[in-house]
Amino acid sequence: MTEAALERVFEEVVRWRRRIHEHPELGFEERRTSALVEETLHAAGIETARVAQTGVVGVLRGARPGSTLAFRADMDALPLQERSGEPFSSKIPDVMHACGHDAHTAMLLGAAVSLAQEREHLAGTLKFFFQPAEEGPGGALPMIEAGVMRAPVVDGVAMLHVSPLLPSGVFGTRHGAMSASCDDFAIRIHGRGGHGAYPHGAVDTIPTAAEIVGAIQRIASREIDPLRSVVISVGVIRGGYRRNIVADETVLEGTIRCLDEGVRKSIPSRLERIVKGICEAHRATYDIEFEFGYPSVFNDPHFTDRAVAALRDADQVVVDIPEPSMGAEDFAYFAQHAPGCYLRLGVALPGIADPPMAHSPEFRLDERALASGVRAFRALAHALPASWAPRTEPDAAPVPRVS
Ligand SMILES: [Zn+2]
Ligand SMILES: [Zn+2]
Repeated sequence: MTEAALERVFEEVVRWRRRIHEHPELGFEERRTSALVEETLHAAGIETARVAQTGVVGVLRGARPGSTLAFRADMDALPLQERSGEPFSSKIPDVMHACGHDAHTAMLLGAAVSLAQEREHLAGTLKFFFQPAEEGPGGALPMIEAGVMRAPVVDGVAMLHVSPLLPSGVFGTRHGAMSASCDDFAIRIHGRGGHGAYPHGAVDTIPTAAEIVGAIQRIASREIDPLRSVVISVGVIRGGYRRNIVADETVLEGTIRCLDEGVRKSIPSRLERIVKGICEAHRATYDIEFEFGYPSVFNDPHFTDRAVAALRDADQVVVDIPEPSMGAEDFAYFAQHAPGCYLRLGVALPGIADPPMAHSPEFRLDERALASGVRAFRALAHALPASWAPRTEPDAAPVPRVS
């Protein structure tokens, strides 16, 4: 594609982004956005399928044999009243694209439309995943359950997420963990009520709860390899009625963040062992509930190296991100089924020292970076299916990890 034709695609990408930005939609309500995606892909001659309610998958087959590469863009907005001051601000009260998913969708559309004109130069198969509900309750898992990683089996999956912390147009990534897993728990301690002056006739749940709060911190400090960190935070303690009444029930609620799937899997049983021991020691009983959220995104080192090389060959700047983020991202599920690469794309507005972060009502991005995003998807699409070895297994065994 000529540079002049590409420039026209970039202009179209900015128009799509603004259109989506003006009409943000929450998770699984992305009807308008997915209609735009479908119409645009159809017009470009790309076959599409509807999955996971409002999700869209586009499939583009290259003229030469090669492996199958998937790109993912999320489409949903946040329940937030926009205060960015942009002329194309949200027209929907209390809904805003404050995480840049409007830009993700527009960039992937631009890449798909331009690549569709270059079919004869492409190897393998490209899949374009337009995903609902990343901000919750999660659209990646229902897309995978609908079969998007199969037929043909996806050999590698990549995504971009905008970042106001990187200079505009600069990419960042790393090997291994890119984001944390996020799981929540609730512990309910049951005792026996009574008078505060006669504790021997009661079973007081407050000292038991206090002991649990302290003891579970020793999972991180004494049970887990310090280089594979875990954070366990108790955010809520609820119990008691009055200063001279023994609390017959106390509830503890908290969150668990991990960067390593092996550590993550081990936490519920460790937590329960401590809760059980302390409750038994003090004649209390308990129940415990876990709510498992998104896993940690794992960037496959080999696939990420190939992706970075492809970007650099296309004159893009890629920097190494030293630390993973403790935020969560449901791209993690795709990256459990095929080697994955999560790339950040810098969108910092020049001259702003302290830019509003994602999820802020003032969030804005430098639209000039969108062209870099399209170029990145295009570079991966041209380089990887011809060179990245297809997997031979018939279906997705999780990518092995060190834990
Ligand atoms: Zn977000
Ligand atoms: Zn996001």
